[in-house]
Amino acid sequence: MRYVPRKAPDDVNVSKEHPLVEASTLVVGLSLIFLAIALVLVLMVDIVLLFVSPQREAEMFSSWRPDDFVAAEDEDDRLRPLRDLTARLVSHWEDSPYEIRVEISDDSNLNAMALPGGLIIVTSGLLNTVESENELAFVIGHELGHFRNRDHIRGLGRGVVLSILIAAVSGSGGADLGASLGDLALRSFSRGQESDADEFGLEIVLKEYGHVDEAWRFFERIDHDNQFVYLITAYVSTHPAPDDRIDRLQDLAKARRWPAEGAITPLAWQ
Ligand SMILES: [Zn+2]
Repeated sequence: MRYVPRKAPDDVNVSKEHPLVEASTLVVGLSLIFLAIALVLVLMVDIVLLFVSPQREAEMFSSWRPDDFVAAEDEDDRLRPLRDLTARLVSHWEDSPYEIRVEISDDSNLNAMALPGGLIIVTSGLLNTVESENELAFVIGHELGHFRNRDHIRGLGRGVVLSILIAAVSGSGGADLGASLGDLALRSFSRGQESDADEFGLEIVLKEYGHVDEAWRFFERIDHDNQFVYLITAYVSTHPAPDDRIDRLQDLAKARRWPAEGAITPLAWQ
């Protein structure tokens, strides 16, 4: 018997489903996939924090600095007093797992950053602007708060976080972060992370001086002195608006009954 192929029906490639139903299935499916990827990425940071203890992190990054870090000149006579002040402040953070290092970057922007391994970078622009040790102490105390809450790791880009995880799991010594200061400066923390760091910083200032006078003076000045506006962008883009922040710090000091007046300590280099 001869086989006579049947002609395929014309609509063999046409779905029986209504095109709108198909389109929405596609959209829902893709959204679910993206959601799953986002969830994995968010969890990844927590996995890193689980695997990489602060001690391990400090070991991995003991001598790391951002790729494009430009140190202020060696003869910057503010480096030694800045390190001394930081050491005094860290002493109020009992059982800090970090060996905090401080560097001054040659940058006219006003900024301070907490980076992996316990590295604090303060810009020379910020040091040119603060007028008392109390002001500077709060800025440093705030960065210490980010280390305490490990925000500095949470704020890193996903790629960087992944490379830390790989380095930790593979047991390699120094993680090659390949991060630039510009990228790191653009990280922004949530409002909650910022106010937690503020609270920790203010408590450190209280322990050091016995009062919190001038702790937020820096923000008052950058807020009201308009000629600084072009300089403050880096600090303001990564930190809360000065006005809100001053209010919150004042409220906190009042609620804790922390003395808001006291002797002001001049900067060592003034
Ligand atoms: Zn901050």
